[in-house]
Amino acid sequence: MLFETIGHTGHEQVVFCHNRDAGLKAIIAIHNTVLGPALGGTRMWSYATEQEALNDVLRLSRGMTFKAAVSGLNLGGGKAVIIGDPNTDKSEALFRAFGRFVNSLNGRYITAEDVGIDVNDMEYVLKETEYVTGVHQVHGGSGDPSPFTAYGTVQGLLATLNVAYGNEDVGKYSYAVQGVGHVGMEYVKLLRERGAKVFVTDINKDAVQRCVDELGCEAVALDEIYDCDVDVYSPCALGGTVNEKTLPRLKAKVICGAANNQLATDEIGVEVEKRGIIYAPDYAVNAGGLMNVSIEFDGYNRERAMRMMRGIYYNLGQIFQIAKRDGIPTFKAADRMAEERIAAIGKIKLPHMGNSGPRFLGRSRGQ
Ligand code: NAD
Repeated sequence: MLFETIGHTGHEQVVFCHNRDAGLKAIIAIHNTVLGPALGGTRMWSYATEQEALNDVLRLSRGMTFKAAVSGLNLGGGKAVIIGDPNTDKSEALFRAFGRFVNSLNGRYITAEDVGIDVNDMEYVLKETEYVTGVHQVHGGSGDPSPFTAYGTVQGLLATLNVAYGNEDVGKYSYAVQGVGHVGMEYVKLLRERGAKVFVTDINKDAVQRCVDELGCEAVALDEIYDCDVDVYSPCALGGTVNEKTLPRLKAKVICGAANNQLATDEIGVEVEKRGIIYAPDYAVNAGGLMNVSIEFDGYNRERAMRMMRGIYYNLGQIFQIAKRDGIPTFKAADRMAEERIAAIGKIKLPHMGNSGPRFLGRSRGQ
């Protein structure tokens, strides 16, 4: 059953990590390393079942392959999940145990932050392995990638508004933002700076209140976010929120947000297209964080990062062009762009070269 699942998704390697003393239960999934070592964040979440955790890591890691490919990066796709409650189950031992598992892969997998994980957790991982990005600036890292992901999302939004409305005036439009965590909050700030009307929701009531008090947003109940009369729906929480139940409720002409795996199924993606909604493919839009951490290999440089992030605008433009050229939905066009690059670059590699892990320049691992 397990190998059937992995065979179906095309994964190269799936590693189950267990350390009873540290209370660690984690899964690392390496989807594809044709373009380079697999880089992708670690998510910590109280999954209801182990199967749910496995499904999530398989989906997310595949997404990373496509994200890196579409973004022009020399990276493959991987991701990890830690099964546990980020509010109660974190410890130094847990993250160091996890770091040892990451290290055992010798750079085939490089980790970073994702939902439920912050830069402090990564400091513990860094004690055990150099194959971690998004570490604090004091270690020569790039820090929390979330503001960059938010900035990149706005670059993708500009390109999407252009296709939907023929202009890029962010402030002219209204937004329903689901999830105001690390990325969502920064994204909302950027929208509000441009004068946009923004509705927000989150299970974290304090974060919502901050948006209302400090940023002038309007709060709506969790389920009401789908009914907001807005131009843009921006999922910035978890995946699968564009589904058969929510899609008929959406009034937005544009779906553009930072969350991974926004479309519950491919069928929903086709339905989105049929309804005339312009969907900005999630992994192309939210690549800012990945771009930012990828620069750590050569010694972090913020200017280079911002330049790369502005490239998201052009990547989106290319995806919309492919969709038009081939008469396919935008989510398929993004896949096509990624697959074509993986195939082309895969062909120019000599056989048996493999992908050893990168060497990190200008980084320290001490305190
Ligand atoms: P986060 O944990 O900081 O924020 C997620 C927020 O969503 C939290 O505030 C949480 O309370 C809220 N949330 C969870 N379920 C919700 C629900 N049902 N309704 C409303 N709110 C809900 O995570 P993040 O780093 O901001 O990431 C957000 C999304 O963006 C994720 O899908 C992540 O995979 C994706 N992403 C993040 C980065 C990054 O740089 N952090 C990069 C690429 C993609």
